Amino acid sequence: MPSATVEDYIKQIYLISDQIGIKEVAMGRVADALGVVPGTATTMVKALAAAGLANYAPRVGVSLTGQGHVLALHVLRRHRLIEQFLVEQLGYDWSEVHEEAEQLEHVISERLLERIDKILGHPTVDPHGDPIPSASGEMSESQLESFLQCPLNKTLRIARIADQNPDFLSYIARSGLNPGASVTITLRDSRAESVQLLARGQQLSMGWGAAAKVLVER
Ligand SMILES: [Zn+2]
Repeated sequence: MPSATVEDYIKQIYLISDQIGIKEVAMGRVADALGVVPGTATTMVKALAAAGLANYAPRVGVSLTGQGHVLALHVLRRHRLIEQFLVEQLGYDWSEVHEEAEQLEHVISERLLERIDKILGHPTVDPHGDPIPSASGEMSESQLESFLQCPLNKTLRIARIADQNPDFLSYIARSGLNPGASVTITLRDSRAESVQLLARGQQLSMGWGAAAKVLVER
């Protein structure tokens, strides 16, 4: 089984690549995401390349091989099923499960994971609305829009929070913007770079940075 460090690198490379929509990820971004200096990230990525999990090109960056891609999806499956289990069965708040899952994703056995999947009824999204890859590595990606793109004055359903930072998630939870909640965007002000919205009968204002990370469906 790959080490926790290997799994964290592979997962972050996958997530960044998915976010920017480009296969090759610059080493600076990898180092930032892992909280290490670029030299450390480069040494590790070279080891991943030697293990057949990634392709590394100096000055271009790193991309996952087919084998790396399979591992990334499997780590995400573990992470997201654990989060769903903690919320649904153990009564955790959805905004506090990420840190637990960061630890448990590296140590859970296949047997326990498949039990959890079964008891939860094979869920396809986690408590943040992120898709859970299937055991065979398939992931259903629905078309979602952020607060910056969705139509105004329409009741929409919050589908996904695209940030796992605990402070951000507790701000979202305090504002009543949990996945599943209803929301209406009433105004987008490009000069103030802010969005006005209505949730739980309350008027709220949010900056563009945060608004880009809350995804809704119609
Ligand atoms: Zn998480």
